[in-house]
Amino acid sequence: MKVRTFSIVAGSMACNAKCPFCVAHMTPANGISSKEPAVNWRNFRKACQFARDGGCVTAMITSKGEPTIFPDQVTRFLKELSTFNFPVLELQTNGILIADGETKRVSDEHLQAWYDAGLNMVAISVCHWEREMNKRIYMGEQSKRDYIDLPALIEKLHRFGFSVRLAVVMLKGFIDSPEAVDKMIEFARTHKVEQLTFRPVSKPDKSENEKVFQWTSSNHVPATLEAEVNQHLASQGTVLNNLTHGATVYDVNGQNVCMTNCLTVQPDNEEMRQIIFFPDGHLRYAWQHAGAIIF
Ligand code: SF4
Repeated sequence: MKVRTFSIVAGSMACNAKCPFCVAHMTPANGISSKEPAVNWRNFRKACQFARDGGCVTAMITSKGEPTIFPDQVTRFLKELSTFNFPVLELQTNGILIADGETKRVSDEHLQAWYDAGLNMVAISVCHWEREMNKRIYMGEQSKRDYIDLPALIEKLHRFGFSVRLAVVMLKGFIDSPEAVDKMIEFARTHKVEQLTFRPVSKPDKSENEKVFQWTSSNHVPATLEAEVNQHLASQGTVLNNLTHGATVYDVNGQNVCMTNCLTVQPDNEEMRQIIFFPDGHLRYAWQHAGAIIF
């Protein structure tokens, strides 16, 4: 079985952001450890082997919360990964601790160690190009905390040698039209962002979390938007790649743009879109189905 992407769940449910569409921040603070969570490293190496045997070239460190809260663990994951020679190593983050000059939780030494261990791409989740709009989502409507200087963060990551992807979560009133997509593309181009992806916010099942369900029900973009944006991007640029899991990659005047959706399970597909390693040692192939387990 071919494997497209190897996702690694680092850290814990802990996150320093407050996205109203996320179930992670609804977890009570007393359930969150401030210590680095234990990882079954033996099984991690087996998962790496499984991914490489399936021809997987991309490994992505992600989290159920925010992985950079435990930067030393990110370093360890990257060092373990480096022995398996994945050509592409990615880190998915909200970017706040990397941008943060005050707490120095993620230091320049961490960034250098990550680069030396082979990290290529830092994917930053955003909802808009404007600081104030991102603040509403990541810091909370009422928060006194300011959102990060996104252009400065992009510049810092470039300075360390990383490529940057902006992973845009599409929300009503934020990026919800082809016109807003165009403005986001312009922002990415201005700041020399290597990759830009658009994905509608996912609507969880009601049973998962009532508050998140209510918020996403009121703020998700229309189901027709994905097709509308794809049509728009096709008219503006060149289709580079139709990926098997429903994503399409475009070149729009030199800017890489990908429109994707949230589907992860395609039973008839010969390729697994992703396998997911969990710190307790389990390897799965779908986020939402506990039964999708390899070991
Ligand atoms: S940054 Fe990610 S993990 Fe943190 S609250 Fe937002 S969606 Fe959840």
